[in-house]
Amino acid sequence: MKALVYTGPGTVEVLERPKPTIKAPTDAVVRMMHASICGTDLHILKGDVPSANPGLILGHEGVGVVEELGDAVQGFHVGDRVLISCMTKCGSCKYCQRGIAAHCETGGWVLGNRIDGTQAEYVRVPHAQLSLHTLPASIDPRAAVAISDAFPTGFECGVLSADVQPGSSVVIIGAGPVGMATLLTARLFTPSLIVMVDLDDARLQTARKLGAHHTVNSSAPDAKQKLLDLTNGDGYDSVIEVVGIPATFKLCQELVGVGGRIANVGVHGTKVDLHLETLWDRNISIHMALVNASTTPRLLRLVESGVLETGSLVTHHFACGKAGQAYETFRTAAQHQALKVAIDF
Ligand SMILES: [Zn+2]
Ligand SMILES: [Zn+2]
Repeated sequence: MKALVYTGPGTVEVLERPKPTIKAPTDAVVRMMHASICGTDLHILKGDVPSANPGLILGHEGVGVVEELGDAVQGFHVGDRVLISCMTKCGSCKYCQRGIAAHCETGGWVLGNRIDGTQAEYVRVPHAQLSLHTLPASIDPRAAVAISDAFPTGFECGVLSADVQPGSSVVIIGAGPVGMATLLTARLFTPSLIVMVDLDDARLQTARKLGAHHTVNSSAPDAKQKLLDLTNGDGYDSVIEVVGIPATFKLCQELVGVGGRIANVGVHGTKVDLHLETLWDRNISIHMALVNASTTPRLLRLVESGVLETGSLVTHHFACGKAGQAYETFRTAAQHQALKVAIDF
């Protein structure tokens, strides 16, 4: 089969690999239809993820068709169209039992990290029972790839962690795919103010189309003041960080209002200062999490019923043979006005 393989620093190549087979009764093998590229795939290429070694098939997101099922997997049939969750969960370890499947002792983020991933013609999915979701026929599989990771991450780590409420004020810093998913799922709670912040005007324009009430380009010298003015100087009830650099987390601390919440979604690679000297008496909370993908069934119901739209996040598709171009488009997303980039198998 054809597979997108991480072959060394900065390189991904389409290589011929053996088709995976069932190794445990809890496995499934899925024939991939569409697999999307994630920011964390780029971190692997940069060498930032020590568990991901050259030779690995990339990818933890995608939609496919069940090809083969282990004996212990119930509720699925060969030929079913399925969404693959970015989080693999056993359901029985101490973390799964506490609802923190992101830290599953034999799962978590394994696909395209510790074992071969979804960017191939076939993938073996461990703990398939809880790591696959039947994709309703009415949902476009091309748009559904965003529900593997971007939507549960934006919803759980952003919107739910920041406790977005009807009539509340929300600022989302970072208008990439996860930031946009955060925006779309924040709207479900009807906050009275959603402001989106980014450096890229094209992404801010998309954010306005997707329902942001205001947008602010953070490169403007008075960006912080503009953002505070939108709340009459009070600061925001929910501040959601979807970038992962010190400057944006600092901005979050400056924008949070009394009684507010900061939710960190961004992946941080360097030390960030926490300004307790200004925050200690403001009755705020700060939340940080890796996605458990426990809301995936809910998100699928919202998409199926037409309440939530995911297609506008998947802006580019490439054939498997053009994987290099797909990665380059995603890496230089601003130049191509790209959000999520998918590969078709
Ligand atoms: Zn991802
Ligand atoms: Zn577990």
